[in-house]
Amino acid sequence: MSQSDPNIPSNKLVVANWKMHGSLALNQALIEGYLHGLQSLPQTDVVICVPYPYLAQAQSLLASSRLGWGAQNLAKFEQGAYTGEVGASMLRDFGAQYVIIGHSERSTAYCESDENIAEKMMVAKRHGLKPILCVGETLLEREAGVMERVVGKQLETIIRLFGAEAFADTIVSYEPIWAIGTGLAATAEQAVAMHQFIRDTVASADKSASAKLKILYGGSVNPQNAVQLLNQKEIDGALVGRCSLDVEQFIKICQAVPVK
Ligand code: PEP
Repeated sequence: MSQSDPNIPSNKLVVANWKMHGSLALNQALIEGYLHGLQSLPQTDVVICVPYPYLAQAQSLLASSRLGWGAQNLAKFEQGAYTGEVGASMLRDFGAQYVIIGHSERSTAYCESDENIAEKMMVAKRHGLKPILCVGETLLEREAGVMERVVGKQLETIIRLFGAEAFADTIVSYEPIWAIGTGLAATAEQAVAMHQFIRDTVASADKSASAKLKILYGGSVNPQNAVQLLNQKEIDGALVGRCSLDVEQFIKICQAVPVK
């Protein structure tokens, strides 16, 4: 994977997280719609994270496009007797360049620890996959005012185990759990404050890694709130769940990225 040139401001990135949605027919329609709608939007980079069985379809439809594709999880092990798991090298076999790690819908349902998530991030990097690491707090934690402590611990676990250079050329998505799938997005002010906190936390351990880190916002992004969110310089893009399943809404979100 090529290193980004720090002198050239990179495009904002919009990641579609299809979660456990799709079929061969629906995916094809979505991808064709994305490709058509994105023709006039060179300022927006787009990645689609599909369910595992559709990686081959994503590869065949996207290989000659400027869109990237990836998965929504991976195993922390290289290979072996881990029934139901999918390893990083398998994702690479289908040309995946990205993988979502630590999404709250997984970490809550499958009790993933911060340590487990940190290991997955390193496995992804070893295989040339760009991790999209999800961090964020619950509503109770925000109401208690401990959101920075919670997100800080998620980041510090990676820094403690693998060093802050682990964040170079990766993507962190700030995803307040209370905003995911609820229709209640964070305000631009809330998101910017947390994005600054995330960048400062990495920078205090490794300035150059923090300069090579993209920080996205995720949580009920829609065409209306995308304009404000994506116009913040601290917000490098968005992770989009529900609205990525509707071509018109997804393209409108991509159109909200300001022209450089
Ligand atoms: C997500 O899947 O990470 C997400 C942000 O979903 P939604 O846009 O539906 O809130």
